[in-house]
Amino acid sequence: MKIVGTDAPEVERVLVAGGLACPGCAGRLRPWGHARVRVVRHRGREERRRPRRSRCGRCALTHVLVAEDCLLRRRDAVEVIGAALTAKAAGHGHRRIARDLGRLAPTVRNWLRRFAAGAEAIRSFFTVLAHDLDPMLGAIEPAGSAFADAVEAIARAVRAAVSRLGPRPPWSFASTATGGRLLSNTSCPYPGAA
Ligand SMILES: [Zn+2]
Repeated sequence: MKIVGTDAPEVERVLVAGGLACPGCAGRLRPWGHARVRVVRHRGREERRRPRRSRCGRCALTHVLVAEDCLLRRRDAVEVIGAALTAKAAGHGHRRIARDLGRLAPTVRNWLRRFAAGAEAIRSFFTVLAHDLDPMLGAIEPAGSAFADAVEAIARAVRAAVSRLGPRPPWSFASTATGGRLLSNTSCPYPGAA
């Protein structure tokens, strides 16, 4: 699995030209058919996608190319999941968040639990990233809970990235930075992160 941009024709062009690196060994990825069709659930609409599959010319492992508006093994777009995380950090409960986003309460509760379980590692990872992107960045003030601190660290890293690299969807940045593993049980640094 490798996180790529959302501009599918551009991703295809770069893939065919040998411009995508294997997340495992940095070898060149080559086109290798397609993965199964999957439904991506955005806010208020669903989209059917057939992700590209690629194969590394060096280690021979295959990697599905996942667009940065998604997370690994999640059907909901990262923007939707991020909205839930932001609402939780603001003090809202999972039932209300689920209602506001038009999702099932157990689904939202699962996102929040996964994020909460990794909150300290996430906070630490994005705090370092924010300071890497903006060496002038001051200390990040505690936001009141480990959960909210992690969401705030992501927000600060996003702001630093936007001011340095230009505008981009905030939660897509969080997906790219974590190699799609924002809600995965994994140790930091995230394997395969861009
Ligand atoms: Zn490889």
